[in-house]
Amino acid sequence: MAQFAVHLGTGILWKNAPKIAPQFLSGVMIGSVLPDFDFIPLALVFFFDSTLAKSLHRSFSHSLLIPLLLLLVAGLLVARRRPAPSAPLLAGAALGMVSHVLLDILFWFGSVNVLWPLNLFGYPTIVSIWNQVTVPSVWLLWVSADGELLSYAVLYSYYRYLIRRNPSAAPKLNLSLWIGITLALFLIFIPLAWFLSVDTYQTILYGANAALFAPLCMWIAWKLRGVIAPTS
Ligand SMILES: [Zn+2]
Repeated sequence: MAQFAVHLGTGILWKNAPKIAPQFLSGVMIGSVLPDFDFIPLALVFFFDSTLAKSLHRSFSHSLLIPLLLLLVAGLLVARRRPAPSAPLLAGAALGMVSHVLLDILFWFGSVNVLWPLNLFGYPTIVSIWNQVTVPSVWLLWVSADGELLSYAVLYSYYRYLIRRNPSAAPKLNLSLWIGITLALFLIFIPLAWFLSVDTYQTILYGANAALFAPLCMWIAWKLRGVIAPTS
């Protein structure tokens, strides 16, 4: 559900909003995936202590205080009347981060520490709407880990649709290859959820996601920027 490609795709859909400024749209797209970049330091922690890594994810990086800070800085730039293209970029990033946190709360079957670091001072900052729901562990693996692969295939299929509508803006890129690879791996890992331990399954798929698929997804989005957000 709320995987890396889903977050990026949600940010990209803002391009359909009327009169959206290019810098604001870039900010929304960056902000929509920015919170999950905590996987870079946490990937290292994961190999030593997977429980600690999972508990730290969706904490400091998913705090709504960060988009609030970005909005304050954007407001200050505007108030000082500086010709600052960074103001819409920051405001867009704030919107993207808020939408990311909302998607994680709704679709991730887990909790989000929305006001970190206030929990360190004893304030209730955890939001979880899934407390009362028991989800079978195989489902969790399919949705949270294997679902990452499916979401890449869906996003790349959407890119292919955009390219068909605007072929002149498209660089040479073999999207079909990546759709095929991510779909094939998604199908292979469906039955593996019954045979591999939760830790092994997550380590393989989260590791592949952090090391290959998420960076690749960002690179493809950058290559296709003229198709995703045409300037004219
Ligand atoms: Zn997240």
